[in-house]
Amino acid sequence: ELKENTVIVVFGASGDLAKKKTFPALFGLFRNQFLPKDVKIIGYARTKMDHEEYLKRVKSHIKTPTKEMEEQLDAFSKICTYVSGQYDEDASFQNLTKHLEECEKGWKEANRVFYMALPPSVFTTVTDHVKRNCYPKNGLARVIIEKPFGKDLESARELQKAIEPLWKEEEVYRIDHYLGKEMVKNLLVLRFGNAFLGATWNRNYIDNIQITFKEPFGTEGRGGYFDEFGIIRDVMQNHLLQILTLLTMERPISFSAEDVRDEKVRVLRAMPTIEPKNVIIGQYGKSLDGTKPGYKEDDTVPKESRCPTFCALVAYIKNERWEGVPFIFKAGKALNEQKTEVRVQFKDVTSGIFQDIPRNELVIRVQPNESVYIKMNSKLPGLTMQTVQTELDLTYRRRFSDLKIPEAYESLVLDALKGDHSNFVRNDELDASWRIFTPLLHYLDSNKEIQPMEYPYGSRGPAVLDDFTSSYGYKFADNAGYQWPQTQVTPNKL
Ligand code: NAP
Ligand code: NAP
Repeated sequence: ELKENTVIVVFGASGDLAKKKTFPALFGLFRNQFLPKDVKIIGYARTKMDHEEYLKRVKSHIKTPTKEMEEQLDAFSKICTYVSGQYDEDASFQNLTKHLEECEKGWKEANRVFYMALPPSVFTTVTDHVKRNCYPKNGLARVIIEKPFGKDLESARELQKAIEPLWKEEEVYRIDHYLGKEMVKNLLVLRFGNAFLGATWNRNYIDNIQITFKEPFGTEGRGGYFDEFGIIRDVMQNHLLQILTLLTMERPISFSAEDVRDEKVRVLRAMPTIEPKNVIIGQYGKSLDGTKPGYKEDDTVPKESRCPTFCALVAYIKNERWEGVPFIFKAGKALNEQKTEVRVQFKDVTSGIFQDIPRNELVIRVQPNESVYIKMNSKLPGLTMQTVQTELDLTYRRRFSDLKIPEAYESLVLDALKGDHSNFVRNDELDASWRIFTPLLHYLDSNKEIQPMEYPYGSRGPAVLDDFTSSYGYKFADNAGYQWPQTQVTPNKL
């Protein structure tokens, strides 16, 4: 439940995440009356700025197309204040506490939510100082943290060792923002709320599953962070693995946070580590028309970088349900389109009466334009027995056209305020996920002779990609001539 008497402190309030995600999410919740009535929001960072300048930053990514929203933004501004201070001085944090106490005047209890929109390098120092200087004396404390949670199993454990003595696991909310996405939250309902899916959801009927993340742009001058991490750490070990976990876990006893997370950890523990022989890596070069630069032409990227901007890899799950089914992950930057989707390909139907009939596919598109569709075969209406590939289609914008799909960050910040951990990453879950990826990451980092394959900016990835996916059983039905009859759909209302 939502706690009254809460102050939210955003550390790193001058930064990119705060301005692009945290403040817009807080405003979204505020204007829909999802924040506690008396809530206050304090920004904290080193940058010195006055109230006006601070508000300008807070509002910079908030759109107010209506008069009503403008008024709501004015009201929102009134609960926002800013404190400037250092990240490694007790005095600065004591000053913050003074301000907190002013905000909390007259409250019987005071709950404090600390949102760490900070680079990982200062994260432990800040949590340490917060614990010593700003921990609520009478009320709940919650701390929201952001990826990266380490770079491999060892560093993730070190980070955890630093947090553990200070914060109880129930006080910690590790954000993987994919878990806040509407379609990702739908996965358990789709699977466990539909008998026909439940019945076929195993190795007897499913041939392979692809989980794909594509971005149509490169690092575009922001390669510093990316180059240190690469696509595997940036999206595969966290976001795509979370999707896989929700797709493959057993039915939880309830939707409670611990029941769900127990099952997630169980399926992760049934996954062997990724083997290098089941991996291809790529790095984008110039676009074919020469207008878009290659990765290494980005000034913020080292000239000799071997950093993968594309990766396709195959994971397996050693349990009764999934033994032998390949889970093909594909992720890349500077590709031909933007999408995140799951493509479940079912086995061939028994041959005999049909020749070469395409397989069924269940596609769950996470973004953009959320939709769930099943590619299925049907008789082409007319006097012959010709078959055609069609679809059963649930397109959100058409089916739920008068509903607003919440931003992932809105959904997650609200969960944290309510104390619901279901959509946050538990400590042992993080450990289990790093275990699966760490040997591969170390192998790629230390074998200097392994060079990523170059692919053109704007293409679908390295040339070997389609041979790679087909070698794990994926059948691309290019002879089916499938075309989606796209009809005009009304965009979401605000
Ligand atoms: P950022 O803009 O680089 O940093 C946030 C603030 O921290 C800065 O405004 C700066 O504030 C302070 N800071 C920056 N570098 C520092 C340093 N070396 N030492 C001390 N303070 C420093 O970072 P961000 O993009 O907002 O990301 C914050 C966290 O969210 C990171 O952990 C990041 O990985 C994660 N994240 C970000 C995004 C995104 O879209 N940006 C998405 C997912 C996760 P002052 O100088 O004013 O103190
Ligand atoms: P598709 O675009 O044909 O892609 C199908 C799969 O085949 C993807 O995994 C793709 O990989 C792969 N692929 C593409 N070209 C290939 C090639 N030459 N060789 C081997 N594999 C290849 O997807 P679709 O499901 O049939 O849909 C067709 C279009 O209709 C899409 O634009 C889709 O968004 C649209 N559609 C929309 C809805 C809806 O919004 N409700 C419903 C149905 C269809 P990559 O992903 O790596 O490219």
